[in-house]
Amino acid sequence: MINLEAPKKHAALIDQAHQVAMNMLRPISRKYDLAEHEYPKELDMLAAMIDGLDSSGASEGAGATGVRRDADSDDKTVKNGANLASVMSVAEMCWGDVGLLLTMPRQGLGNSAIASVANDEQLARFKGTWAAMAITEPGTGSDSANIITTAIKDGDEYVLNGEKIFVTSGERADSVVVWATLDKKLGRAAIKSFVVTKGTPGMKVERLEHKLGIRASDTAVITFTDCRVPAANLLGSPEVDVKAGFAGAMATFDNTRPLVAAMAVGVARASLDLIRDLLTEAGQDIDYDKPTYRQSAAVAKFLQLEADYEAAQLLTMQAAWMADNRKANSTEASMAKAKAGRMCSDVTLSCVELAGTFGYSEAELLEKWSRDSKILDIFEGTQQIQLLVVARRLLGLSSAELK
Ligand SMILES: Cc1cc2nc3c(=O)[nH]c(=O)nc-3n(C[C@H](O)[C@H](O)[C@H](O)COP(=O)(O)OP(=O)(O)OC[C@H]3O[C@@H](n4cnc5c(N)ncnc54)[C@H](O)[C@@H]3O)c2cc1C
Repeated sequence: MINLEAPKKHAALIDQAHQVAMNMLRPISRKYDLAEHEYPKELDMLAAMIDGLDSSGASEGAGATGVRRDADSDDKTVKNGANLASVMSVAEMCWGDVGLLLTMPRQGLGNSAIASVANDEQLARFKGTWAAMAITEPGTGSDSANIITTAIKDGDEYVLNGEKIFVTSGERADSVVVWATLDKKLGRAAIKSFVVTKGTPGMKVERLEHKLGIRASDTAVITFTDCRVPAANLLGSPEVDVKAGFAGAMATFDNTRPLVAAMAVGVARASLDLIRDLLTEAGQDIDYDKPTYRQSAAVAKFLQLEADYEAAQLLTMQAAWMADNRKANSTEASMAKAKAGRMCSDVTLSCVELAGTFGYSEAELLEKWSRDSKILDIFEGTQQIQLLVVARRLLGLSSAELK
């Protein structure tokens, strides 16, 4: 039987994340939207709390990093594990503030990459680092197979040269997971990721971007000029397996896309909760048992938005649950990201519309959430790219056959 409730074993974690979001993130949400580029120092205490939960074992996936597949496990029982816990707690935190979640120490998207593809030695060595993720370049966004940053082996080091743009947490993180090619001629199979520690000579943060939304999160341009990193910092295998192609690097996305979908779910929920309160204050009863044509237009719209929200939430949970149960989830991860990204933009803007001038003003956070939402439909693969990935998978076509 399908049970659409959140698993009971994660209830305490979800509740804890919600309390943190309500009491620690919401109160400083507007402050850091206005103070773009200022580090939210309040997050240090929160990050320490999350570390404490992690080391005590009290949290299974309290943050954005709990996304490792246990491929060798003999345990074939159905699990609601760390991936599911992560997406649900991330959604709760983003109900508080997505920009702040994105700049939470040690919870970067680079941490998810490390968790997904690092070997055991690297996992131990990079434990506790705060890692950003740098794929995008001035000439390469969606077409990530075309990156031109190079990594040339020299003894027991790689020498990195190139420029990365729009790196979330690029200035604040302790390290950056950088995608670079070992040999452009060998195509996408030669793209590997490298952990580059902040302060490594040759790595330079050039500037920070000013943005529409998620202003609490820093977004950096970083250059690498003859930047030497230990060969042991290459994540995964250094072999170029032309047959496997891009599979290794892309495996990261199977884990990070559901997390971004969860962010969208959290932001949308925030808008819906506020609109629900406004409708109730205005004397509009939301009745789930009455057909929509017998309710006000505003309530009918709310019910439609909420249904769309639930569809996105269930797809997100499904993609994470599949990872917990060692099932290939690339299609579902892209479906969740596509659906949740689009849903969040639509829901947050519709909530601004429903609330009229109040929605558009800074009196409340509705206008902020409508600005914060758009990025969730862009990074970790745009809406259009997710649909392309899904179409390729359903039709059994390669990236060369369907562009
Ligand atoms: C605030 C912010 C934070 C970011 N953080 C990071 C980060 O931490 N690390 C990182 O590496 N990158 C990051 N990015 C970059 C982000 O991942 C890219 O912006 C994204 O991948 C899209 O690339 P692009 O902007 O070059 O757009 P393009 O790839 O040039 O695409 C432009 C438009 O064309 C569409 N399009 C492209 N190809 C196709 C196709 N084949 N079919 C149909 N439509 C297509 C796209 O969907 C898009 O709408 C961030 C971006 C922003 C704005």
